[in-house]
Amino acid sequence: MSDRKPLEIPVWPQYGDEERQGLIRALEQGQWWRMGGSEVATFEREFAEFHGAEYALAVTNGTHALELALQILGIGPGTEVIVPAFTFISSSQAAQRLGAVAVPVDVDPETYCLDPAATEAAITERTRAIMPVHMAGHFPDMDALEKISTAHGIPLIQDAAHGQGGRWQDRGYGDLGSVAAFSFQNGKLMTAGEGGLVLFPDRELYEEAFLRHSCGRPATDRQYLHRTSGSNFRMNEFSAAVLRAQLKRYPEQLATREERAPLLSSLLAEIPGVVPQKHDPRVTSHPHYMAMFRVPGLSEERRNALVDELVAAGLPAFIAFRAIYRSDGFWETGAPEETVEQIAARCPNSEAINNDAIWLHHRTLLASEEQIHRIAETVADVVSSSLASA
Ligand SMILES: *Cc1c(COP(=O)(O)O)cnc(C)c1O
Repeated sequence: MSDRKPLEIPVWPQYGDEERQGLIRALEQGQWWRMGGSEVATFEREFAEFHGAEYALAVTNGTHALELALQILGIGPGTEVIVPAFTFISSSQAAQRLGAVAVPVDVDPETYCLDPAATEAAITERTRAIMPVHMAGHFPDMDALEKISTAHGIPLIQDAAHGQGGRWQDRGYGDLGSVAAFSFQNGKLMTAGEGGLVLFPDRELYEEAFLRHSCGRPATDRQYLHRTSGSNFRMNEFSAAVLRAQLKRYPEQLATREERAPLLSSLLAEIPGVVPQKHDPRVTSHPHYMAMFRVPGLSEERRNALVDELVAAGLPAFIAFRAIYRSDGFWETGAPEETVEQIAARCPNSEAINNDAIWLHHRTLLASEEQIHRIAETVADVVSSSLASA
């Protein structure tokens, strides 16, 4: 491989004059917090409109977005929240921080998203929320989850940290009608380094969230009368100015990924031993946060070595999360009364994906078509020599 030219993969994050001008605009407003400026409120309106939703609240980050959304839905001590066993730890930590128990539930082996049958089986009289995660931009079976949610009267809260611009059966987040939380951390599909946002289906939830994200203080208060308990999760004006620019460039980036991802996926599928994340056609707009694939049967150790080899070959490759119950942090507070082995036994798919999944950063999917072919060839070379040397 050493005789090959280096791969040309775009950098992340991307920015230009729009972001630059946004930062200067926020600076020169002379008011750098949302109560004085207009960037945060304008970004909320623009982001909501893009998703066909009405009520958006920008916050400090995606973890806080989940925490706030769960709090508004009544999550606290004595309650349980169902989360996928395979996700980023924030999904469970948000519930645990509120004093609730996070119950890990298995995922689908092909889409890596919450499995509806396992979800229904995990419901108890204490379950107060079900948190599907749009893993790598893919949706879980929202039809099935909505049925379960309605039948049991338990709200869905979508962890859409990977899901900007996603649509299920041509329904955007506004039409899906449940609370959805987003992240704008540095690696996410639109970013200001840090940031988050919650979309609410109705005004009441939004208004309560607004109070609680601002120390329980109404926007117009000048008397320091704090109506509810809360915290400070307010987004600042600079972040919103950058995010407004990021949102403008988003449709074009999404269109590029929607073109490149199926191509890369079909090329990866031809590599012996490699199985890309499946695309359910009911996901009618797929944001493609990362290109994920499995090398089924690989041990965790060999998968980690393979990731190192892919990185050495010039690819932005990563291990694709760890099953949440496999981190010590999961067990500190709000864990179910089960052992690691018991959870692993009832979450066989998460357990397998924990060991054998890999992802390529989504900037890969902004590369040229010719580069996509070269990326797939590189993966093929690395995987075949890695599997041969085993
Ligand atoms: C990134 C991420 C979050 C948390 O977002 P932050 O902005 O980093 O706090 C939550 N859930 C998932 C699935 C994520 O990938």
